[in-house]
This record gives sequence, structure tokens and C-alpha cells, in this order.
Amino acid sequence: MRETHRKGIMGGTFDPIHNGHLALADCALHQFDLEEILFLPAGNPPHKQGRNDGAGASDRLAMVRLAISGNPRYAIDDEEMYRHGLTYTRDTLIRLNEREPDTAFFFIIGADSLMSFDTWYHPEAICHYCSLLVARRSGTDDRMIYRKMEELRREYAASVFYLDVPFIDVSSTKLRRLCREKISIGSYVPEAVANYIETHDIYS
Ligand code: ATP
Repeated sequence: MRETHRKGIMGGTFDPIHNGHLALADCALHQFDLEEILFLPAGNPPHKQGRNDGAGASDRLAMVRLAISGNPRYAIDDEEMYRHGLTYTRDTLIRLNEREPDTAFFFIIGADSLMSFDTWYHPEAICHYCSLLVARRSGTDDRMIYRKMEELRREYAASVFYLDVPFIDVSSTKLRRLCREKISIGSYVPEAVANYIETHDIYS
């Protein structure tokens, strides 16, 4: 099947969604000539088990909705959130490829995710069903990223590209902590998300 469409996938726990996620999506859209970015909030990912300071699925989803509303090239795929048990990126990619066989998917990740990519469920299958776009993140330098990208090409025949993003030092973990400490997170998230967190008293 010839691929005639190009879509980005911004997967994440989004607990909460922040400007780092949005910058990755925006840069991917423009640098890789994508027609749309699908935000894919994780249901119950194996690598985030045992966490007890997070928001519920419906609040995470509501915050993603608020963050991307008004951008016609951003959409949400919330199927993972309603699946029972652990959820795996591989299964989501199989579903998306079956649903849209003429679309080439570009899965967007930060460098920390790249470094742990081998531990994901069936990394070779993930590489079969999408290309990877990798952005820098604190704690990694570009040399490490390029080395790891080369490794994925060798190990899994991955189609993997470097995504050029400004360095944005923010994580959801840091934002949950700031909220607990009653410190404003207004400069790290869209205003509507900050208001939602405050109104619903999410992370206190
Ligand atoms: P947490 O701190 O709760 O682990 P997080 O901030 O890493 O969350 P996730 O929703 O887990 O956010 O991230 C989804 C994807 O976005 C991951 O691939 C992650 O590497 C990437 N990402 C998140 N924040 C940034 C950032 N500031 N710069 C680059 N990549 C990022």
C-alpha cells in the first residue's frame, strides 16, 4: 500500500500535559511536513506503574483536550484510556496502521524515551509500524542520541530521525511537585491547563 498521508503521534502519560510536549508536536509538524498530530494519552503504561501522585485518566484527557483545542491540526486518540490492563505502544500502532493503511506514522519521543526504548514491548515491531522522531531532553547530549539512533537502525532496521527542538527543561514530575508545593506552574503549561489544575485541585 502506498503511503499518501503523514501523521505524527505524540504519545505520553500527560500527567499533566506541558509546553515540552506541545513544542515537540509543533516542531515535528513543521520539520517533517506532517498533516496532523495525534495526541495519544497512555492508558496504563507498564513503565509508570506504582505511581501514586498522578491524576485520573479523565482529568489527564481533559487537560490534553484543553491544551490542543483551537489547533485544527491536532487531534486526540483516546482508545488506550478505555482498554483494560496494561497498554502497549505496539498494539496501538497495529490498530492505527490497520485503520489507516495509507498513512505513514511518525512517533515522537524525547531522548529519555529513546534511551529506554529497548525495554519497550516488542521494539522491533514498533519500528516496523512507524518512524521515530527523537528530541533532545535534559540529561542526554546529542552525541548519545545519535549513537543510540544508529543502534536502533542496526538492531531493528528502524527509520529514526533527529527532531530539532529548543531545550525545554520541564517534566510532568516537576509540575506535580510544584503544585504540591503551591508554586505556580503558569509558565510551563497553557493557561487553560493551569486553570483546570487549580479549579479541580488535581495535584495537591
Ligand atoms: P513524567 O515526568 O511524569 O515521567 P514527562 O514529562 O516525561 O512525564 P510524558 O507524558 O511521560 O512526560 O512524556 C511523553 C513523551 O514526551 C516522552 O517521550 C518524553 O520523553 C517526551 N517529553 C516530555 N517532556 C519533554 C521535554 N521537556 N523535552 C523533550 N521531550 C519531552
